[in-house]
Amino acid sequence: MTLDGRLDDSFARELGGMFEFASAAGSSAPRVLVLNTDLCGELGLDVEWLASPAGVAVLAGNAVPIGAHPLAQAYSGHQFGGFSPRLGDGRALLLGELHDRYGERRDLHLKGSGRTTFSRGGDGYAAVGPMLREYAIGEAMHALGIPTTRALAVVATGDQVARDTMLPGAILARVAASHLRVGTFQYASVHHGTEMVQRVADYAIDRHYPELVGTEGRSLAFLEAVTQRQAELVARWMLVGFIHGVMNTDNSTISGETIDYGPCAFMDRFDPATVFSSIDHNGRYAYGNQPSIIQWNLARLAETLLPLIDDDSETAVAAATSVIHGFVDRFNDAWLAGMRAKLGLVTAHDTDTALVNDLFELLHQHQLDFTTFFRSLSSFATPPGFEEWAARWTDRLRAEARDLSTVAAHMDSVNPIYIPRNHLVEEALRAASEDDDLAPLHRLMEAVTRPFEQRAGLERYAAPDLVAATGYQTFCGT
Ligand code: AMP
Ligand code: MG
Repeated sequence: MTLDGRLDDSFARELGGMFEFASAAGSSAPRVLVLNTDLCGELGLDVEWLASPAGVAVLAGNAVPIGAHPLAQAYSGHQFGGFSPRLGDGRALLLGELHDRYGERRDLHLKGSGRTTFSRGGDGYAAVGPMLREYAIGEAMHALGIPTTRALAVVATGDQVARDTMLPGAILARVAASHLRVGTFQYASVHHGTEMVQRVADYAIDRHYPELVGTEGRSLAFLEAVTQRQAELVARWMLVGFIHGVMNTDNSTISGETIDYGPCAFMDRFDPATVFSSIDHNGRYAYGNQPSIIQWNLARLAETLLPLIDDDSETAVAAATSVIHGFVDRFNDAWLAGMRAKLGLVTAHDTDTALVNDLFELLHQHQLDFTTFFRSLSSFATPPGFEEWAARWTDRLRAEARDLSTVAAHMDSVNPIYIPRNHLVEEALRAASEDDDLAPLHRLMEAVTRPFEQRAGLERYAAPDLVAATGYQTFCGT
């Protein structure tokens, strides 16, 4: 089945003023680099058609499916704390919305498809390396059970893009529950006012929080629901050592999915101050800052919703503030629940916070590899220096009196053995980008798409590269 007649356009129909129709620049010699057959199945798309010249033409921006009206979405954003009233899709297009096999509406979006009215100084393009990076890390996150936008395909355009050097260009086809961001609400508020914020909120509620449709007081309940999803999301990132790297309000979704894999990376040695992004000089988006940053972003969302929450501004501010303050408990609950699972515990105990905090103290002090440490816990052995902590942990396990092989199996089902380690990601992207060799990427994907299942032959995908990890830097996904 082709995409003809399959793409809906609810965003365009309902939110005029929040986008500009646009068209892709087109690619001179498009060629599929990776195609996500698993996601094709979920979307009810025909893999053979998608890989055929007609399918590739759509992915490359050379053809528009019948009935589709590609558009660039408008949004604002606080970038590193500074407000930009007009960002928007400067190098991306929403092709339309698909209903997946479960009946869920999903956006189909192209990234790297050329300039739009929101491009400002940018060229509208993307390079092969960063687009494959988004593909690889997004799929790894999905396999870890973390809500995320997903890559359907990466197509090399056959054209060169100018960065520090000339690089092969690419377009990423991305699928998301929606591309509504905190910045979408900021744009509605700044450029249009309360009525548009209400329309965007109702559209978002309809897509992501249908239980709130038409309810009294839904704007506050919506803020609470987004706060809950983001608290859970950021907790889940941190439970696997993930650092997003560029948590601007335009990169924080309303759906609670991870979006925009630019300078993100997984931490090797544990240090809460870890930052990989070359542009994050002050460590604003460091590992340990992620909860307070998402809370800050949610406060920006709350500000746009105030006029909908109550006509009396003091009442509105009080209600919204209490939701934003409530983030801390929501995050801590999600984090602690996740940490208990990582430690093989099933009951809650008031000493858990101390147990977890003391563990992270030790991990920091001993500079241990985050992923390897947690994975090795299922052998119930701990490294030298952990004796006192291990005694407290084993006391907790003993008190729960569960069969230890069951506990170990549960721990292995939440503590991954394979994550997209920085040196392996770089190796795979370099081979693809410089030598047109996709084999290392395919091997990496084999490991990280089944992250909890130890398999023979994949040893190097489980091993840290601690020497090279020092000073690792990621560059913004341009
Ligand atoms: P990001 O932080 O990568 O999510 O992007 C922030 C803003 O910059 C968004 O409005 C993007 O559309 C825009 N942008 C990033 N790269 C480019 C580019 N190469 N050309 C045009 N716009 C871009
Ligand atoms: Mg972005």
